[in-house]
Amino acid sequence: MCTTKDYSTNQNNTFKDLVAHAQAYGFIYPSSEIYDGLQAIYDYGPYGIALKRNIQNFWWQSMTQLHQNIVGIDAAIMMHPTTWKASGHLDGFTDPMVDNKDSQKRYRVDLLIEAHAMQLTEQSKSLEAKALIETMETYLQEADLIGLDKLIQTSNIICPVSKTANWTPVRQFNLMFSTQFGAQNDATTVYLRPETAQGIFVNFLNVQKTARMKIPFGIAQIGKAFRNEIVARQFTFRMREFEQMEMQFFIQPGTEKEWFDYWKKTRIAWYKVLGIPDQKIHIHPHKQLAHYAADAIDIEYNFPFGFKEIEGIHSRTDFDLSKHEQYAKKKLHYFDPNSQKHYIPYVIETSVGLDRLVLMLLSNALINQKVVSESEAAHGNRTLLKLPPPLAPIKAAIFPLLKKEGMEEKALAILDMLKYDFPIVYEANQSIGKRYVRQDLIGTPYCITVDHQTLEDETVTIRERDSMEQYRITIDKIAHLLHETTNIKSLLVQL
Ligand code: ATP
Repeated sequence: MCTTKDYSTNQNNTFKDLVAHAQAYGFIYPSSEIYDGLQAIYDYGPYGIALKRNIQNFWWQSMTQLHQNIVGIDAAIMMHPTTWKASGHLDGFTDPMVDNKDSQKRYRVDLLIEAHAMQLTEQSKSLEAKALIETMETYLQEADLIGLDKLIQTSNIICPVSKTANWTPVRQFNLMFSTQFGAQNDATTVYLRPETAQGIFVNFLNVQKTARMKIPFGIAQIGKAFRNEIVARQFTFRMREFEQMEMQFFIQPGTEKEWFDYWKKTRIAWYKVLGIPDQKIHIHPHKQLAHYAADAIDIEYNFPFGFKEIEGIHSRTDFDLSKHEQYAKKKLHYFDPNSQKHYIPYVIETSVGLDRLVLMLLSNALINQKVVSESEAAHGNRTLLKLPPPLAPIKAAIFPLLKKEGMEEKALAILDMLKYDFPIVYEANQSIGKRYVRQDLIGTPYCITVDHQTLEDETVTIRERDSMEQYRITIDKIAHLLHETTNIKSLLVQL
């Protein structure tokens, strides 16, 4: 029985709405907010962590359960410092900075230029400010230090302390966070990993031998990575502490093209299953390949601030394993039992940012609808998070119509029956209409109401989030409904 008339074209929200919604409804908060936060560091609230875990599980299961030849690991965040020498991060993972010779103060180039752009805006020179930021971003992307030098000079940027323009040349600044390891006077500098991939490479032979893997095979890992990002804005899009989900697929040299195509197709299909419309996903082939890469693409999503990378797929040749072999002076060869030959495998990497996926899903799901609902007497706009039900933080909310006449006990008994299999919330306060609104805002696909009729015939009212449709089913059918529609399995079978 459908009582909803939907006169809407779904209207997407702005980025500001998205950030406000994520904070107001318990998804994402600025870290240590009571101390005014820490730039580009965020905490996940109750619904945010549930959404993040569901995405994580979907990725993990789609990699390791659906592929017999992919296994998982969980490597440590701190690794032997030589790892980063071998991987090239110690020498090459950098962003630009500049010093003022008079004040002896050091500035990150982007922040210095941004502060100047802000001043221009305050002086009603917004166009000039915009052009300055755009030029800076081009130079940053191209790592053009001379261009940045000239930009600082031609824009007459001065040091806020010395008030002079007596700058050193722009230099590169390493993005890795370092810390001291061991006793104070005998400490070694170690780094918080800037990517999870190296933990996979250094464990390549451990995994291959102990899990008896034969090429082609993959190793998947989910974990935190840290980058002292210089351009850290756009909410959780660019964070200094974030989570990656990476899979390195080890193959025979010469088969890289076919496996690169396979992983490209496989990963794009994954986004379709998440309900991301084709027009919001874009493949960006890398024009300039890294010296070790045979091929590389970015999968980009159309965020409210434009198409931006969410995942990279890279054909990395034998670069990483060869480098580790060289620096560790340990053989990282694979023995092929068929050809009876030893070789260093080539690698296809899929690398996706979990926080960017959360942001993508929130961005895709947050919509305003114009509705006229007869049953809910709701007229006008409603806001809802139309998340795929298997990713929704809460699968169903249970409401007693009244807190008396045995309805509360019955609703709690249903909660007890379902809680072992599903995340469910119980809510007895406010009107049913307000309870629906609250669940729509956090993306709960089903609301279940226990009313007078329940006490007579063991049926409940199910109200669906997206259609606002209401119908009755017997209590013993609820678990089946939730199993069929809200389990990760319902996504996995579509892959
Ligand atoms: P970008 O060009 O946006 O800086 P990248 O090319 O440096 O990203 P990779 O090193 O390929 O990114 O990392 C793989 C994935 O990790 C990215 O596609 C992205 O989803 C995620 N990622 C990288 N840096 C960050 C960050 N600072 N905050 C959140 N996620 C990140």
